[in-house]
Amino acid sequence: MEWYQLETEKIEELVKTNRSQGLSNEEADERLKQNGPNELRESGKRSPIAIFFSQFKDFMVIVLLIATVLSGLLGEYLDAITIIIIVIMNGILGYIQERKAEKSLAALRELSAPMATVLREGKWETLPARDLVTGDIVKISSGDRISADLRLLSANGLLVEESALTGESISVHKQSDPIAGESLPLGDQANIGFMGTMVTQGNGTGVVIHTGMKTEMGKIAGLIQSAETMLTPLQLRLEQLGKILIILAVILTIIVVGVGVYRGHALTEMILSGVSLAVAAIPEGLPAIVTIALALGVQKMIRRHAIVRRLPSVETLGCATVICSDKTGTLTQNKMTVTHLWTEGKTWSLSEGEGKIAFKRAGRSQSIAQEQTLNQLLSYAVLCNDAHLQTDDEKASGQAGDPTEIALLVSGQKAGYSKEKLLQDYKLLQTFPFDSGRKMMSVIVENRKGERMVLTKGAPDVLLDKCDYVMWDKQRQLKRRQHEDKIKEAIHTLGNQALRTIAVAYKPLYGSRKEMKEDQVECGLTFVGLQGMIDPPRPEVKESIAECQRAGIKTVMITGDHVVTAQAIARELDLLPPDGKVLDGTTLSKMSDEALEEQVDEIYVYARVSPEHKLKIVKALQQRGHIVAMTGDGVNDAPAIKSANIGIAMGKTGTDVAKEASSLILSDDNFSTIKSAIEEGRNIYENIRKFIRYLLASNVGEILVMLFAMVLSLPLPLLPIQILWVNLVTDGLPAMALGVDSAEDNVMKRHPRRPDEGVFARGLGWKIISRGILIGAVTLIGFWLTLHNTSHNLIQAQNVAFMTLVMSQLIQVFDCRCERSIFDRHPFGNKYLLLAVLSSIVLMLVVMYIPFFQPIFHTVPLSIHDWLLVIGLSAIPTFLLSGFSLFNQKEEEQSTYVRHA
Ligand code: ATP
Repeated sequence: MEWYQLETEKIEELVKTNRSQGLSNEEADERLKQNGPNELRESGKRSPIAIFFSQFKDFMVIVLLIATVLSGLLGEYLDAITIIIIVIMNGILGYIQERKAEKSLAALRELSAPMATVLREGKWETLPARDLVTGDIVKISSGDRISADLRLLSANGLLVEESALTGESISVHKQSDPIAGESLPLGDQANIGFMGTMVTQGNGTGVVIHTGMKTEMGKIAGLIQSAETMLTPLQLRLEQLGKILIILAVILTIIVVGVGVYRGHALTEMILSGVSLAVAAIPEGLPAIVTIALALGVQKMIRRHAIVRRLPSVETLGCATVICSDKTGTLTQNKMTVTHLWTEGKTWSLSEGEGKIAFKRAGRSQSIAQEQTLNQLLSYAVLCNDAHLQTDDEKASGQAGDPTEIALLVSGQKAGYSKEKLLQDYKLLQTFPFDSGRKMMSVIVENRKGERMVLTKGAPDVLLDKCDYVMWDKQRQLKRRQHEDKIKEAIHTLGNQALRTIAVAYKPLYGSRKEMKEDQVECGLTFVGLQGMIDPPRPEVKESIAECQRAGIKTVMITGDHVVTAQAIARELDLLPPDGKVLDGTTLSKMSDEALEEQVDEIYVYARVSPEHKLKIVKALQQRGHIVAMTGDGVNDAPAIKSANIGIAMGKTGTDVAKEASSLILSDDNFSTIKSAIEEGRNIYENIRKFIRYLLASNVGEILVMLFAMVLSLPLPLLPIQILWVNLVTDGLPAMALGVDSAEDNVMKRHPRRPDEGVFARGLGWKIISRGILIGAVTLIGFWLTLHNTSHNLIQAQNVAFMTLVMSQLIQVFDCRCERSIFDRHPFGNKYLLLAVLSSIVLMLVVMYIPFFQPIFHTVPLSIHDWLLVIGLSAIPTFLLSGFSLFNQKEEEQSTYVRHA
């Protein structure tokens, strides 16, 4: 027998589980141990050994190794061994960098891993999907990606999109009854939910029948694993730059070698020097350091509750010019409390004080026992409700359901209505879950007498249109103009107080008992009343919006709520300027794309919109040249999230579909987190610029020392080992420390960066070249002066050059922390950098002062006089150019960032 042919009871027996209790934790752990985690095996993962050996496959490193072996064969054993040791040390450093980068990326993937709602020991829990085992009872609902193969136990209007498995993009209707037939294709197995497919509507429960590689998806896992590129635009540009730099380094090396040989240096000596120089000049660590800077920056973002799913978005974040944010839960707290009720033209307030709950009219407490319509309003909202009142555990995990629905349960409870009690009197026949497109939810219930009734709750203005009757004076009356006006006025008044409003309606059902469709149910209803709930703004959001504004980023509110409510909250948050426009969904639907594009810059609030509208808004903004960040949580939000430059999904309330479409997830659903992410994004980019500047200026310096010396017919200022050592001590640690530097104070006071900005924009190219030339020049001056002063003591002169080259780079590194001048911030503010520089200095002193190393590195101790010369010269590039920048500050400031659109 196939799984789909079996009765659900039989399945429970087969997989040894119980649908009302689920598995015990102990049993689940045992099964997890036995069958392994519920995940598809990853292909294409590199082993640590492969990563280590990949460090030595660079063309120039291979050439260096060959040249070294040759020189070893010619008798230069000590040099050859030392070079090989340095190359291995460099390889280890590269390995550590890459492993760190890989590990951080893996940690990121882990964080955005899918979760599942599982019944264990009688309680619903949210667990990582990889912990699912056969026999687990799981809950699925609209927007979920199914995390294992399930035999469905119940299905409520459940539609599942199975294209990942069957290629068929039309959603399949699912049910829980057994199906007859042999070897049915997957698409026809309507009572099975397959791993990796997506719930597009409705909800249901199922029992896990297969996990991991045993699922249908597992069987074809090899086919569907697509390696997504994780390279950011900057990384791609750096990759190209890397190639150019290699060619440049090789050409310059050839020139150095050529001129050297022409000037009378020995060919073997020059080849080794040249190749060492090329190895030193090629910033081979750059890609790994960029990844580390990105990955560590991303870890920092995680601490600030922003989970990056696609690394490229880290860069895009720094370019964002508009944030389109949902209101409920993102700008507001999503802590809904019903404070006002309205029926038949009367407003009631609901307050809680001195341990008593009071329903008040015109400020006076009143009994509501006789208020039939008010009781209908409260009890129907409890029955037509997917949530349940939380236990403390559930409150912590956010398990009990949508806060709007919980608020309605609470208001009902205050009048003595509990869902459990009502369900003893009413049987639930059919549910039409809430969706933000329809903006309503309905149920069909039956009372003990066998009378059936539709109960609907939803957005008042939308629901009112579906009503032909109203409850007025405790009677069902035909809806007239004056009723409608009164209801609209009430909606407006409640909305003006920033209240979110929900209307309740009902309809008696007669005749056929066949399963019904939404549009048959949600029409000809009777309007009962309104419930208004507060949802206070998040306290920190106002400041974040202001901060974004200062950073040249506009915040736009997009909400399904009523225009007046949205407007009231927008004003509270200072999001809506006096001349800012508010647009409602109906007007938006009628607007052409061009018309929207024309106005889009003036609109700050979009209200009563459906998720489909979001895409139109993203497109219009992008047409105007904006870089758009867009939030969303539902299935229907996915297209807009995907099209936005930065798609943002909610971590708590977001569906799997929205999360998968997104590049950033807010683990706390908070708007302020977007601001923090942008801040971090800008900082990461600036940090990358910092070490590119540092590394390239240093390398330019290294090449120029050798080149100038050859051109000026001087002896070799540095020996190959010294060049390689300079590369080892100056490149790795200080550059990594720059990668985790803190932001400059003004990072959120500048306008967004242009996305097409080149690597060397904003004067970076000039900074690299000018500092590089000066580093080369002072090193050579040190060499030349010492040569002169010591009547040609070459070793001493080389030592002065060796130290000057290192020290000028190590002083320059502090300058790189500032966009403009070293005097702009405390130079020792980055303790990692300080440590890195100190350890580089110690390494230099070790090879210079410990006798063991002196013959290896051809070093001698420096005299006081030499030290003074070294320090004086090393400080020149940084202080000279920083001073120069300070003079030019006005000019630079203006050209620093370009204002958008
Ligand atoms: P956003 O999160 O985008 O700011 P929203 O959450 O306010 O918007 P929706 O959830 O689409 O938007 O809700 C739109 C309207 O539908 C609400 O104003 C409310 O009147 C109504 N509504 C919300 N939740 C429910 C629900 N569970 N049942 C019935 N009606 C609801």
